[in-house]
Amino acid sequence: MKNNITQETTSLDKTKPVQLAPGLEIGGDTIISMVGPCSVESFEQTHEIGRVVSSLGIRVLRGGAFKPRTSPFAFQGLGEEGLHILSAVAKEFGLLVVTEAMSVEQIPLVSEYSDIIQIGSRNMQHFPLLWAAGEADRPVLLKRGFMSTVEEWLMAAEHIAQKGNEKIILCERGIRGFDPSTRNVLDTASIALAKKLSPFPVIADPSHATGRADLVLPAARAAVAAGADGLLLEVHPTPSKALSDADQALSLDSLEEFTQQVGLVARALSRELV
Ligand code: PEP
Ligand code: MN
Repeated sequence: MKNNITQETTSLDKTKPVQLAPGLEIGGDTIISMVGPCSVESFEQTHEIGRVVSSLGIRVLRGGAFKPRTSPFAFQGLGEEGLHILSAVAKEFGLLVVTEAMSVEQIPLVSEYSDIIQIGSRNMQHFPLLWAAGEADRPVLLKRGFMSTVEEWLMAAEHIAQKGNEKIILCERGIRGFDPSTRNVLDTASIALAKKLSPFPVIADPSHATGRADLVLPAARAAVAAGADGLLLEVHPTPSKALSDADQALSLDSLEEFTQQVGLVARALSRELV
């Protein structure tokens, strides 16, 4: 059986671009931002975000409808209603949608309402979910488990690929460290390494990696400098009122300056950030 992962590394990356939509690919010269709320909370909240995001030329809206929360007492997401909101907002502003499927049963529904299926960090080795995503007709964004090695992450991607879906985007979202100063540890070297070992584009999630809005910009710049093909970013119209991950949400007012700053690093590498 075909194995996409090789152990030999050269100075060259192996990345093969993945098409997200006609005229839009990830893994090439364009670095793709995927921006939106941690959780879809209401139509108004998502609409406001969609408006600002599209005005900045960003093409992909992120947002959680099914949320894998540590505490069962925390907000669990709006479920199917959240998918309806995301797809209505995306349609109005001409955006693509990336959202998480937490179970095999959710794959058809998430495929219907989104353009990219996200598999969360906690589910990276949920093999039946990987197989179901491998049979879906959508690119799959596979987050690295927060306690998984690079090898385990790449082999999880192979479980998807073996079912016939090679439209895979790897996402480094931080791994658990010993120091609570940051929520996780952004493993920038793993971004560069994954691009040498596998053909799949690699993006970074500096929001979950740092857990602090004031560190998202430097972490994003570092990820792009390390070769990230995209960024997954959490924003909120009123960060302090976010129903999940409030501490790491960027304000909508800061987004333009943020994209300009990260864009400078992209340009230094002859790439463009959208
Ligand atoms: C998310 O991106 O919404 C999320 C839950 O992230 P992670 O799976 O990386 O914790
Ligand atoms: Mn979140």
